[in-house]
Amino acid sequence: MVAPDPGTIEGLRASYERGEGLVGFRSACGFVTATWGLVCPACGARDLERTPLSGRGRLVAFTVQTVPADEFLNEAPYAYVLVALDEGGRISGWIAGTPPEGALALGDRVRWVPGYKTGVQFEREPAP
Ligand SMILES: [Zn+2]
Repeated sequence: MVAPDPGTIEGLRASYERGEGLVGFRSACGFVTATWGLVCPACGARDLERTPLSGRGRLVAFTVQTVPADEFLNEAPYAYVLVALDEGGRISGWIAGTPPEGALALGDRVRWVPGYKTGVQFEREPAP
């Protein structure tokens, strides 16, 4: 079997599943995104360069799902989250096992965790 091309969205998804970390894309103007295939919204560039991401960032939005789809029955309640990554860019993802009240707050530090489930999974970073 041929390894998925890391320059494709299938390749990126496969690299997440292998636990290789998040990959970002940097425009010549400095804009960074974690979204594959995006045209730079700042300068219109289409040739964004791949750049490694730490997978760390801060919560900028979240909502807790208590009624899950079948795929997430074992993780509910879970949070659907929007994370502002430290290197730049925002990415949506989820955090397993999140109680509806008090478990998360805007600004919380989070980090990407490898997972076999659909989507980009995060967890709260332990307090320093
Ligand atoms: Zn740009």
